[in-house]
Amino acid sequence: MEIKNQYLNDLLVKVTKRNAGENEFLQAVKEVFESLVPVVEKRPELISSGVIERLVEPERFIQFRVAWTDDKNQVQVNRGFRVQYNGAIGPYKGGLRLHPSVCSSVIKFLGFEQVFKNSLTGLPMGGGKGGSDFDPKGKSDMEVMRFCQSFMTELCKHIGPDTDVPAGDIGVGGREIGFMFGQYKRLRNEFTGVLTGKGLTYGGSLARTQATGYGLCYFVNNMLAAKNTSFKGKTVVISGSGNVAIYAAEKAIQLGAKVVSVSDSAGYIYDKNGINVGVVQQIKEVERGRIKEYATRVPGSVYTEGNGVWSIPCDIALPCATQNELNGDDAALLIKNGVKFVAEGANMPSTPEAVEAFLANDVFFGPAKAANAGGVATSGLEMSQNSQRLSWTFEEVDAKLEGIMKAIFDNSTKAAAEYTNNADNLVAGANIAGFLKVANTMIAQGVL
Ligand code: NDP
Repeated sequence: MEIKNQYLNDLLVKVTKRNAGENEFLQAVKEVFESLVPVVEKRPELISSGVIERLVEPERFIQFRVAWTDDKNQVQVNRGFRVQYNGAIGPYKGGLRLHPSVCSSVIKFLGFEQVFKNSLTGLPMGGGKGGSDFDPKGKSDMEVMRFCQSFMTELCKHIGPDTDVPAGDIGVGGREIGFMFGQYKRLRNEFTGVLTGKGLTYGGSLARTQATGYGLCYFVNNMLAAKNTSFKGKTVVISGSGNVAIYAAEKAIQLGAKVVSVSDSAGYIYDKNGINVGVVQQIKEVERGRIKEYATRVPGSVYTEGNGVWSIPCDIALPCATQNELNGDDAALLIKNGVKFVAEGANMPSTPEAVEAFLANDVFFGPAKAANAGGVATSGLEMSQNSQRLSWTFEEVDAKLEGIMKAIFDNSTKAAAEYTNNADNLVAGANIAGFLKVANTMIAQGVL
């Protein structure tokens, strides 16, 4: 038996059959089921109400064709997705990803995770996710615009400020959100907070750009404080060089750490003197270039092809690129080199073998659902500001973000202590705390 509970094990077999081949989705479901073993043992009504069977099945899964013309006047066809996973506690909320690897399994795993993450933030948001296999890399601004307009022409039939509010994710930043917002506004003749991550001149929130990376470091700060230490003087290894990685690096440095790496899908930079975030921003945010250019601009830094970023010795590792980017061998190397804290900026970046190795070797581990929830939490704050037609200051939003990350840490620790007798098991704690609020609400709302 894979899961140490007959009911959950049988259900996993059913889910595996029904979603055959959707490996990322099944990986995410299995991890949550493992955490739920002590919960269903304590509360049998969770079984009789069918709440877990209902939770693993998305409320709605939309797939559509996205046709657009490239700069050579050739017609291109991509596949668009939106999963409205669970709306028990609020409108669906979750990002849009543009990356060639996007498929139904990736969208469903991200949507499933989002349900628990959004619940953990304490804000009234259900879980959703979407995107396309469109690759923005190497495309002109006009091509990206035509794609986004075509994508939104279909997506707008399914979303709305009280129904489903998408945001950014891999490949979707301010430029893409702007094009999509413009098209929604034109089609609906409505100026509403239908997307978050908007520009500051049309309803965006200060600190939203920084929120996932900053929130990750606030979460790690709580982990460090629980062990009577801090970021001061620690060496930090970060993967990725996109939105999450850049602002995680910026905050970790502000809090006194030395960040020695960033990466992209082609290779990684090791800068023993400490990463210069301004240079990374110039390359990635302004020039949309490749991270290897960093080594040509910063003396003393070294670029290496491939995904060897986890071979760099560090105290704290923050995977901030993509799913399954840190495997069991990487974890073993990090542990051998003395890592003490790992927290996930990306969604599900550590494979199950890596997570198992961290938990077994006394590495304090912050799972994505909890550690990277600052992005969606601040999106929730953007929705509140849009509803009130108000703009809060950077400091106000940042202070709320810090408070939310502390509450997520405290609630995860509390649930872990109550159900597993190990307050440090944040994987179980985050899954259980996120699950209970949604499950109790679904029971209260009847069989839907
Ligand atoms: P960006 O598109 O800004 O950056 C993504 C980074 O990850 C780039 O450096 C990219 O390199 C790298 N990357 C992407 N795919 C791969 C891959 N298959 N292999 C290796 N590297 C890869 O995305 P974000 O920073 O927004 O997102 C990063 C992660 O954080 C994702 O898992 C996302 O779901 C998660 N996240 C993001 C939030 C947000 O607010 N943006 C909120 C919560 C979670 P390259 O340029 O070579 O592709």
